[in-house]
Order: sequence, then C-alpha cells, then structure tokens
Amino acid sequence: MSDKAIQKPRVLAIANQKGGVGKTTTAINLGTALAAVGERVLLIDLDPQGNASTGLGVPRSARTTTIYDVIVDQQPIGDMAIKTLVPGLYILPSDPDLSGVEIELGQAERRSYRLRDALDRMAEFEMLYSYVLIDCPPSLNLLTVNAMSAADAVLVPLQCEFFALEGLTQLMRTIDLVRGSLNPKLEIQGIVLTMYDRRNALSGQVAQDVRSHFGEKVYETVIPRNVRVSEAPSFGKPALIYDLKCSGSQAYLQLAKEVVTREKRRKRQMAA
Ligand code: ADP
Ligand code: MG
Repeated sequence: MSDKAIQKPRVLAIANQKGGVGKTTTAINLGTALAAVGERVLLIDLDPQGNASTGLGVPRSARTTTIYDVIVDQQPIGDMAIKTLVPGLYILPSDPDLSGVEIELGQAERRSYRLRDALDRMAEFEMLYSYVLIDCPPSLNLLTVNAMSAADAVLVPLQCEFFALEGLTQLMRTIDLVRGSLNPKLEIQGIVLTMYDRRNALSGQVAQDVRSHFGEKVYETVIPRNVRVSEAPSFGKPALIYDLKCSGSQAYLQLAKEVVTREKRRKRQMAA
C-alpha cells in the first residue's frame, strides 16, 4: 500500500460552548469551500439540533442512520455518510436523540472515545476523506468531549461581541484538560472571527483584543456579518452555493485556503 493510501483524514472539531457564534455556519461553509478546492470532506453533525444536516438540505426522512447509531450503538461509520449537493462533501447527520447521550452512556467503557474509535475503525478500510469536520453542540458536554478526543485539532469560531473572550478562557481550559488526559496530541488549528461588522467599533475592538491575546492562532481571514450567509440554510444550501459572490462566501473560501496552508506547514514541520 502506498503512503498516500494510508493517509488518515485530518479531523477538526469546530467547537465553542457558546451558541450562535457561527459553528454550524462555519462547518457547512468551510466544508463546502474545502471541497471546492479539491478536498474530500466528511461533516459530522454532532449537535442534536441537527442544524448542519438541515442547512445542507438533508431532510429528516433521509436521516435513517445517524451519528447517534455510531456513538450509542457503536455501529461503523462505513457507508452511513450521505452525499450532499456539493461534490466532495458528505454528511453524517444528527439525531435529536443525541441529547440523551450523557445519560444513555452512563459510565460505559470508553464513553469519551466513541467517535474516535469509530473513526479509527473507518480509517482501516476507507481512506476516502482528507478532512473530517465535526460540528459540535453549544456546550462542553460528553458530545464535545467525544469530538475533542477524536480530533487532531480544534477550530474555534468566535463571534465579535463583548463577551467573546470570557467564554474563550473556559474553552481553552477544556482543551487543556482533554490534552492532559484523553488526547495529548490535540492542537488548536485556529480561531476564526465571525459575524464581523466593520461599521461597529466593538467588532474591531474585540478582533484586536483576540489577536493580541492569541496572536498567530487567529486566522487572518475574518468572516463578515452577511445576510446572504444567514439566508442560505433556509434554502438547504451552503452560502457558497446560494451566492458564491457574496462577501461571506468569499471569506469562507479564503478561510479554507488558510486552513489548508496551515496543514501543509504542519506536515512540512513534522517531516523536517
Ligand atoms: P452556532 O452553530 O455556533 O450555534 P450558527 O452557525 O448556527 O451558530 O449561527 C448562529 C446564527 O447566526 C444563525 O442564524 C446564522 O445564520 C447566523 N450567522 C452565522 N454566521 C453569520 C454571518 N457571517 N453573517 C450573518 N449571519 C450569520
Ligand atoms: Mg450549531
């Protein structure tokens, strides 16, 4: 088997315990943008609300096998993933029952590794994807811990608003905890500023604060607040399909390039 064939996908958890900061929007549109630049992407919808599934036009009737079956019943991911309207982008849909996972798994063995174990098993025979993106729920619960245990790196969407930094401290602490126990190799791929409003002085101030705190970890690309981006999910389409030319879509394309560049740089450093 050649080196290329045993290449495992890069697993990125899109996480922030705050709701409404742009996790799902980033998962959908970064996934689409990565596919557009030639990557093969699996998006795992790990939020019981299933917004990523809906936003990619997967009707509830099509969600027969879901990430719930993987996490709770330990079924193989295998061919569960559904094709989306974006060539190269696949989705493993969510299920509202996921919200009961904490109780259902109780003290079950390897409860924090259910997703990682499933991905590892998949990697043995199915090297389809170059990226796996995990859309996390808005909390630091067992599902998010599963995502962080399975991930190579975390990508943090951060809304440019007053309390943004406050939540970030807690998130960083969680990442440190996971690194210290469940997943020592966990990295931070980057922090992406979302819903940036250049007419709002606060947006600029928050962006400046975050950059002075986290330096190069913050992507140069900033995702602007853009009405086309917020309209797209109601049509079951990524913004990049709904309106490729809008500023939001263009920003997500830019972000995808940055993500790929960071991965290339990391590989080069590993090889050196
Ligand atoms: P999360 O998954 O973190 O809860 P979402 O991605 O669902 O956040 O975004 C929350 C809301 O903000 C959604 O209604 C979404 O359409 C909207 N939104 C996200 N990003 C943008 C953006 N760049 N411009 C305008 N609206 C956005
Ligand atoms: Mg969401």
